[in-house]
Formats: sequence, C-alpha cells, structure tokens
Amino acid sequence: MDLILRNGTVVTAAETYKADLGIEGGTIKQIGTGLGPAKRELDVAGKYLFPGGVDVHTHVEFTLLGETTVDDFHSSTIMAACGGITTIVDYVLPNPGQLLIDAVEMWNGRAKGKTVIDYGLHPTLFKPTERTRGEMAELASDGYTSFKIFMTGLAEFDHYAPDYLKAMAQAGKSGAMINIHCEDQCCITFLTEQLEREGKNNVRHFAESRPRIAEGIAAKRAVDMALLADAPVYLVHLSCEEGLDALNDARARGQAAYGETRPIYLHLSKDRFKDEKDPERYVGWPPLRDADQMEVLWQALDSGVLQTLATDHTSFSMAQKKKHKKVEDLVPGMSALETMLPMLYSEGVLKNRLKLSRFVDVTATAPAKLFGLYPQKGTIAIGSDADILVFDPKKPVTIRQKDLHSRQDWELFEGFKVTGWPSMTISRGEIIVENGKFLGEAGRGKLIKRKTFTSP
Ligand SMILES: [Zn+2]
Repeated sequence: MDLILRNGTVVTAAETYKADLGIEGGTIKQIGTGLGPAKRELDVAGKYLFPGGVDVHTHVEFTLLGETTVDDFHSSTIMAACGGITTIVDYVLPNPGQLLIDAVEMWNGRAKGKTVIDYGLHPTLFKPTERTRGEMAELASDGYTSFKIFMTGLAEFDHYAPDYLKAMAQAGKSGAMINIHCEDQCCITFLTEQLEREGKNNVRHFAESRPRIAEGIAAKRAVDMALLADAPVYLVHLSCEEGLDALNDARARGQAAYGETRPIYLHLSKDRFKDEKDPERYVGWPPLRDADQMEVLWQALDSGVLQTLATDHTSFSMAQKKKHKKVEDLVPGMSALETMLPMLYSEGVLKNRLKLSRFVDVTATAPAKLFGLYPQKGTIAIGSDADILVFDPKKPVTIRQKDLHSRQDWELFEGFKVTGWPSMTISRGEIIVENGKFLGEAGRGKLIKRKTFTSP
C-alpha cells in the first residue's frame, strides 16, 4: 500500500463511519480497520474524509466582455486544491466563428502543463449550425458529454432559438446534457432601458436590471424546450424560487431536469448593492436576490430540489470590475474555488441548514453522477480515484484575501469567520495540499473523458 489514512471519519452521500483508507496506485484499494502496512501512514483521527469536491461550473481562464481573468489554469486549480476541490469541469467558450472542436483543443492547450487537478470541459454553443451538431456528436463520443447554452444576448438566444432547439435535440441523441444559463434577455433589455431613462443605470441598480422574473421565464422556457427536444437539462446557478419552480415542475412530470446553485446566492443578498463600498464585487449573472431567497435555496439544497453547488469561478481584479459603469457592461464574476466548501460546511452543516450527507452529495457525488464522472470521482469507494479531502471540522478561520491563492486583489468573503477548513487534499493518491501549502506539480492534472448521460 502507498498510503494509509487511519482513524478518520469517512463521509459519503449515503453514510458516515470510522475507518482506515488504503490507497495504492492512485485509487482506493481498501476500506476497513487495522490496514497496513504502507509506505506512508497518517493518523487522521478527528477529521472528516470527504470525497474531493467536484466543481462542474468554472471559468478558470478566459475572456469575457473584453476582460481576461487574472487567474489561469495553474492558479485557479491550486486554489481549488487548497479549497478541497479535486475535479473541475470548465466551460469552453469558442471565439466568434471558431469551430467547437478547435475551441476545445485551444482550451486543452491552455490547461496543458498548468493544471494541478483533473478536469473536464463543457463546450459552449454559440449560434449552432448543422456543422455544430455534427461536432457535438463527435465531441460527445470523445468524452465531452455536456454543452452549454446561454439564453441571454451573449449568445443571441432569442434570434437563434430554432437552432438552439435543434442543438438540444442533438445533445439528447448523443447522450449529452444541456447546461442552460436561464435569464430572459427581453426582460433585461426592457428594464435596462427603463433604468437608463430614470438615470439609474449604474451598479447600485444592477439587481433591478435582471430580476427574478427574468430567471423564471427563462427557466420555464428552458425545461420546456428540453422536453420537446428530448434532452437532459441542467439549469446552472439558479438563484431564486422562480427558477426552482420551473425545475420542480419539470421533475414532477418525470423530466431529466437538474439544478445548480452558487455560493453567492446562499451567503449574500442584494442589500450589498445598497451602501457597500465597491458594490461591483457582488456583480454576477444572475444578480444577488432578496434575503428571503437565501433560505429558499438552502432548503432546496438540503431537500434535493437542487442537486449541486458549483462556484461559477471567474476571477477579475477590482480595476477590471470597476472599469464599466452601466449595468449592461459590468463584468460579472468572482473567485470562489478556495472558499466554497468551508463556507458551505460552516454556514450550512454547522447551522443545521444542510445535512452532512447532503454536503457531500451536492459538492461531489451528484455532480460526478450527472456529468459522467462517477464512480471514478465523487465518492469514497474501493476502485474510485483516491481524491480525498481531509477536513478539519473544528478549525476556526477568518477568510482573508492575503491568505488565499487567487491572483484576484480582493476577496468576496473578506472577514467572514468560518469553522472547518481543509487540512489535506489528496488527488489520485498524491498529497497535493497539506496545511494550506500546495505541494503538487504544475501539469499533473489530467483531462477526463466523461461518460454519456445516464439518469442518476
Ligand atoms: Zn458561468
């Protein structure tokens, strides 16, 4: 045996128990008591052993609205590792007119030599044509088994809706998931023009430009189109009950429909836009919502209405965030990979909003199952990759930008106090983070060719 973790508390989506884990050749070989001997043995008594986090929504290195993220595949995946995440699935955004396959190759080129944890890719569809549909079939059979659609102006969704519907049908035929960003551009344009007329087109009024109803209209349309196209559908970063209603209705009629939320909607409300300094830091698509929606989302996450939590990690400097003044030009996104799991544990599990088993399910098991990574990733079982987060549930930490590994020069949760923090991250049997120190090598992360969709 290469490594034995002794006396830890193993937590999966199904059970919690004390055991030793024996790791060999990068996978979990034995689970039991009194295992050994091994080349290295660690006593992890008092620690939780979680499956490493699987974050299926990241933008670790890309350009949006003319701004390039300050983190890249190297710094982003180091942050992920330090935060207990051992797999990411990143979004490929093709340049205008670029073939999907070429964009995927470009993304793999960026990851090469830099990535420190395993990764997969979701290609994004812009104005899909017949040729795109051919590429989708090819990519799906090559392990890229999910495709992203934006319902907003970014993808000119309303203009090309018939083509997006055809692409959804192609995804269904190819065994691929359709991931949809649900916000209705017609509502956003109408409200943005109204804010402009009222002299309110600025960051303080950002949330008003993209209200809950815009998410609800789009989410309803997204699940209905997916039903028509016979494609499994995954609604990304839902932020409010209007989005959840559409998801619930779809699931009630037996549709393969799933939903994700994102840390900012659990921990922050739109009051932040009112009087805080640098409100640009809180800008994401969709915006922060009323405070009551935070509890709605916690309940949905705990009860299983929502399946996953993902970061939507996108890091921009404060200068980049502050460059634009009008709501339609504000750069959305924030660094989140290092804080997602400790914030969820502290605010969710410790405050009795989220069961421990659900913590593991939403951050590892469910995303791995939905995106063709399970059981290689997303659980602690014999034969699974030894991707393990050794978590100290008692460690108090005050979140400070200076202690984190992002190149972003500000931190969304600056000053937040949490209890519980990763003490060690293991990726394919290799200890890559110990006590906040990254020990792995750049480029050790591998591209994972994912399986086609099967209903979990
Ligand atoms: Zn995103």
